[in-house]
Amino acid sequence: MQVWKFGGTSVGKPERMQSIRQLITADGKPKIVVLSALSGSTNTLLSISESLIAQNQAEAKSKANALRAHYDTFLIELYQTPAGLGKGQAIIEKEFSFIDSLIATVPYTVKQEKEMVALGELLSTQIFEAYLQEEGVNSTLLPALDFMVIDADNEPIMADIERKLAATIAPVKDKQIFITQGFICRNPAGEVDNLKRGGSDYTASLIGGAIQADEIQIWTDIDGMHNNDPRIVKNTFPIRELSFAEAAELAYFGAKILHPSTITPAKIKGVPVRLKNTMEPSAFGTLISEKSTDIEIKAIAAKDNITAIYIHSTRMLNAYGFLKRVFEIFEKYKTPVDMITTSEVSVSVTIDQTANLDAIMRELREFAELEDPDKDQVIICIVGNFWADKEGIAIKVLDAIKNIPIRMISYGASEHNISLLVDAKHKNDALNALNEGLF
Ligand code: ASP
Ligand code: MG
Repeated sequence: MQVWKFGGTSVGKPERMQSIRQLITADGKPKIVVLSALSGSTNTLLSISESLIAQNQAEAKSKANALRAHYDTFLIELYQTPAGLGKGQAIIEKEFSFIDSLIATVPYTVKQEKEMVALGELLSTQIFEAYLQEEGVNSTLLPALDFMVIDADNEPIMADIERKLAATIAPVKDKQIFITQGFICRNPAGEVDNLKRGGSDYTASLIGGAIQADEIQIWTDIDGMHNNDPRIVKNTFPIRELSFAEAAELAYFGAKILHPSTITPAKIKGVPVRLKNTMEPSAFGTLISEKSTDIEIKAIAAKDNITAIYIHSTRMLNAYGFLKRVFEIFEKYKTPVDMITTSEVSVSVTIDQTANLDAIMRELREFAELEDPDKDQVIICIVGNFWADKEGIAIKVLDAIKNIPIRMISYGASEHNISLLVDAKHKNDALNALNEGLF
């Protein structure tokens, strides 16, 4: 079985949904199909939420009305029969009544907000499933809320997902197409929750891992993972093959095409991930698997909104345990560290979650000297094969960006990654200069 996931733009127009129907049924093979919300829906639902948090129910209501109007016209174009349209309208009626009830809930809390933002996927999947029924496809819905579960640290519980998913599929196992919601899940309290923005990719990978799929396909609106950010750099090209490790680095360090956690479940279970383009289904896309190719420099990605902290202590000189104390503080505040560089008496680290920055700085100051953190930094990550016995790679990279000030460099942590930290104002120049010098 394969798992195919379609993103917001791939389901965002009635004609796209219709072409997806063709795509998923063309080879006659069974599939689990994971859908995102229609493009824009999640943002609108969050914006309705913002109005409610600001206690502006009238504003929330008018945003909800506009969203509903969008769905109303969508349905008219999607369905081909009055019966199909009637089913679609019943779905809209039910879910928008629920939105109304959330709008009327006082106080409006995080619990309601999570129920609100889940509606994008609940709507898209039901609308699509009703369309498949209208078209006579042998399909069914698998409610993600019945099997996608996370723990108190927001981590998916793989063993439970496997068990619950198998139980959800068992009674309908003769179906050919199984439609399910990306992004949404249940937390340990049994409440509706989610896998963070862009989480539908992660859903697909978790399902692919759970059923030990033959392949996971992520369908978006670009022909695979590119060698550089196509929004910033001209003449980028899709990379045909990446190893799990390389793809994970790129996804984590800013390649917007994939949710950063997507690769992990696929990698653990050895399930290949293929990135495909809905607008150009015959394009090869990118295949991510165990296998790596020998290409030296494969791709560049950039991660924004990074803060660098400079920690200095003469006590670090010839001492052990210093780094442990430093990292214990980041652990205490559940703040991941991305990049590290060290000298004998100082260390620089970067973080992208700054909610606890002040507390972290306060505790670090108890045993080290700090400077004001450098905000608005960007990690530029160069991915490829940088085996330790290979010469000349660092010079290529550094030569390419010789005109750009660099705050940190990390080389040698993995054979697949060189990371540079630069100020955000140099990001575009750095990406372009690297593209010129390396490809
Ligand atoms: N609809 C969610 C979002 O916009 C999840 C996804 O599309 O992957 O973030
Ligand atoms: Mg996405």
